[in-house]
This record gives sequence, structure tokens and C-alpha cells, in this order.
Amino acid sequence: MHGLMMDTQLSISSFIQHAETVHRNAEIVSRKPEGGIFRYTYAEAGKRSRQAANVLKKLGVKAGDRVATLAWNTHRHFELYFAVSGSGAVLHTVNPRLFPEQIIFILNHAEDAVLFLDIQFVPLIEKIKSQLPLLKHIIVMVDKDKMPQSSLSLQCYEELLAAESDRFEWPVLDEQSASSLCYTSGTTGHPKGVMYSHRSTVVHALASVAGDALGISSSSVVLPVVPMFHVNAWGVPYAAAATGAKLVLPGAGMDGASIFELVDNEKAQLLLGVPTVWLALLQFCEKEKKKLHSVEKVVIGGSAAPMSMIREFQEKHDAFVIHAWGMTEMSPMGTLNTMNPYMASLSQEERYKLQTKQGRPIYGVKIRIVDANGNEMPHDGKTFGRLQVSGPWIAKSYYKVEDRSAWQGDWFDTGDVATIDAQGYMNIVDRAKDVIKSGGEWISSIDVENIAIGHPAVAECAVVGVPHPKWDERPLLLVVKKPGQDVTKEEMLAYLSDKIVKWWMPDEVLFVTDLPHTPTGKLLKRDLRETYKSVFSS
Ligand code: ADP
Repeated sequence: MHGLMMDTQLSISSFIQHAETVHRNAEIVSRKPEGGIFRYTYAEAGKRSRQAANVLKKLGVKAGDRVATLAWNTHRHFELYFAVSGSGAVLHTVNPRLFPEQIIFILNHAEDAVLFLDIQFVPLIEKIKSQLPLLKHIIVMVDKDKMPQSSLSLQCYEELLAAESDRFEWPVLDEQSASSLCYTSGTTGHPKGVMYSHRSTVVHALASVAGDALGISSSSVVLPVVPMFHVNAWGVPYAAAATGAKLVLPGAGMDGASIFELVDNEKAQLLLGVPTVWLALLQFCEKEKKKLHSVEKVVIGGSAAPMSMIREFQEKHDAFVIHAWGMTEMSPMGTLNTMNPYMASLSQEERYKLQTKQGRPIYGVKIRIVDANGNEMPHDGKTFGRLQVSGPWIAKSYYKVEDRSAWQGDWFDTGDVATIDAQGYMNIVDRAKDVIKSGGEWISSIDVENIAIGHPAVAECAVVGVPHPKWDERPLLLVVKKPGQDVTKEEMLAYLSDKIVKWWMPDEVLFVTDLPHTPTGKLLKRDLRETYKSVFSS
């Protein structure tokens, strides 16, 4: 027997329709890539999204067509989130930090005919346009008087918008239809496309705003530093529109000074981003003796949040860190480590320790750990296993890729190695390919890094497994020192010695001026392993 409820299709346009009627006057603030701060309301954002939907219609964009963006977190990008998906097309957010060859690959793979871009990326497109045979319309998101000179035929977003009516009927779409597309950066092989649906996006947003998740409401002031070109800024634009939260968008200003200025001026309460961004912000605050007065919570994900960072936010800025884990294939929310009665019952030091874990699954996501044969492993907080996930906002295959070897039945294998304890807390031990295999045992490179980064002279560090004649692999610690600070190898090892077991101690410590990163800010360990492969054999 079926229930007797309306089968209203879940749709991304419903977010903006809700925001512009119920939260008309709530604010959106955006740092414009061409300079200056822009502010308007959800009512105006709704109107401009409808105008943008009419622009798409005029350009000949049809349901299911992919429409690309190369853009920072701005109000114009926000409008496209609703205009493109809401009108039935697929928003393909392209990461401008990828190598040009990768950008060419994914624009061609997705068959984008229309591209909206920020002014900074015009030179990039000029360089690669000849290799993008399907691309017909290039629209620069600036005012008319700021349009750049170019060898390409460029159109102006503001001019196109101004010519359109704000009357547009959002179509009723099948909730399973594709809404947006994001390629994983793919440290090996080609990037792979994850195709989200209206249903997955809406359900993810509803779960993520809950009190025990991100806790976003109409009283929140949210600043996603995580880019809108990477997993839809962790779904924050949708969550903000669903709740009417004030949304603060940092544009191209990702450095410590720019983020601080925006946080301070707009009284941001909830910040979201990867650890490298917070390193820069915390270093800025330390140097300039600034406090993040308005910030209540900082969501850290994408890479492990070290205890020293969790502590610094808490003790210097009164800001609680929510450590989160997820991935492009998961829209991306998987687990979150939020305050609850159990955490509240712990001493401050025990809390910090618990906060270094990536937390518990949010409602909707199931997690488990398995051995090499796919057998489930115990949740005892000690046993390592491959982390698998299942749920309504997790990919079931990649876009136009036959290979489904990452799936085991209804479970997606994340490529991460983790433990899960009896209370459901998950702790990422490592990426399966980064875990260090020493004498038949495993060493977590992340654990050693998280301790080493606590040394006051260390700005950034990486631990990688390097081939060793006797032990298979041994850990090598690479350290970038803070400007004006010094530390020797012996001091570094002495610092670690009472914090980790003896056989986890790095066999060598090298000081470097910088470390390589992926386009999404993670350490590029494959390159480090290659560069230092002979350290223990030469
Ligand atoms: P990409 O694959 O494009 O680099 P993703 O955001 O999809 O970017 O990366 C997901 C991976 O990032 C996870 O599988 C995990 O290895 C790592 N990761 C994400 N959050 C955390 C975290 N809090 N702690 C440790 N690793 C994390």
C-alpha cells in the first residue's frame, strides 16, 4: 500500500524560491573578483537567478546540457547555482587550480558549450580555447565597463542579464535528474566526474543544516572559504538558501588578511574550509595580534585537522572546531565531530583528543570498515580497515566511466583506511596509498604529521613512506619552518619521542622550503615519495 502524500519532486530551484519569499531581506555579501564588496538580498538574488535562467534559454541551453563555470565564491556564481540547475541544465563547476591539460580534458569530457568565468581566468581560456572545439559561448562575469580586451569573442554577464526579464517559471523536473557535475582532482589518471541529482542535493542540504551537523539557521552568518568549484562548497550555498542564513562569499581573497577582514566586518559565525586556509588565517592573526571575535564554529575537512589547530582556534579565538570528513563522491558530507553530551562530559584535553577524530556519520550516511576481502571488521577503535560508505547522496558510478571497481554492492570504497569505535566515532588513519608499511605493520602518516605540526617552529610538514632495505618502508618527515624560526633534526625527533611509539619515529627529517599540493590543497604525497625514494637506499 502506498502512502497518500504528495509526490512533490525535490528540486534545487525550491531553495531559491523559498529564500526569496520567506527570507527576502536576508543578506548575501560577496567580494567581487574585479575588486570591491557587493551586497544584496535573497529577494534580489532570486530575481537575478531568473534573469540568468532566461539568458541560458536564449543561448540555447537545453535540459541536461552541461554548463561550465570557472569561478570563485561570488554572488554571480551563487545565482548560476540556481539558474543552471533550476532550469534543468547541469552546473559543471570547474576547478581553476587544475593543470590546463586537466581543464581541457574535463571541459571536453563534459561537452560544455557554455562557460561562465571570472575575469582572472580569461587568459587561461585564451590559451586553451583552440583545444575546446565544443565551446560556443564564453561569458565573463563582470560589469560592462570592466570587460577585458581579448582575442576571443566574449560576452558580458551583466549586459546579458540586464537584457532579460525576471519572469521565469522554474520547470518541474524529475528529482532524479542530473543537477551538477564535479570532477575529482584525480592524483592518478584522468579526473572522474561525479554527477549529483536534484534529489541527492536537496536531501544532503537538509541533513547538513541540522543542529548536530552544521547547525545552520536564519540566525547564522556563514562564510564558506571552501570553493564553490569544489564539491559545491560542501553544499553551503544550498544550505544557506534553505535556511535564509546570511551568506558571506570571499571571492578570490583566500589569504589570511582578506579572510580576516571579511570575517570581522561581516561578523561571520560559521567558517568552513581546508586546513591550509586556516593555517594562513591563524598565522595572520598571530602576527597581527588579531582575534576572530564573531566566530563560533570552524568546520575543518578535506585533510586532517591537527590538534594544535583545534586548540589554537579554541584557546585564542573561542571558536569550536567541527572536524568533518567527506569526499567529492559523497556530496561531500560523511562524518562530523560536533559537540554532544559525551564530548561535553570530557575534560578539555580529552575533548581535543576526541576532536582529532573525524566524528560520527550524519543522518543518512552509513559507514563500515572492511578487510582486503571485503569482510566487515569490528568497531573497537583499534582495528584498521578500508572505509566504505552508503547513502542517498553517495555516487553509484562515475560519469561516462564503465569501471565500477570502487563499489562493492551498495557500498562505495573511499580509498581511506580508518578505525571506528564503539560509539561510532570514525578516525581516518590514512589514504590506503599513503599508509606506511613498516615490517608488516602500518604507520599512520597523518598521526605523525599531526604531532609534528604542533612544534612551534613548524609551518607545515609531511610524512611519507620511503622504500627501506630491511623494513619495506620507513617514515621520512619533511618540514617547512615558520619564517624566522629554527629547529634542528635532533630537536624535532626529541619533540616527537615522548608522543609516538618508537617504531613510528621518522628515520630521517629533512627541511624544505615548500611542499607540493593537489589543486584542492592536499599534500601531493605521490610526488614526495618519488622525489625522496632513495633516501634510505643510497
Ligand atoms: P579530491 O579527491 O578532489 O582531492 P576530495 O575532497 O574528494 O577531493 O577528497 C576526499 C579525501 O580527502 C578523503 O577520501 C580523505 O582521504 C581526505 N579527507 C577529507 N577530509 C578529511 C579529514 N577530515 N581528515 C583526513 N582526511 C580527509
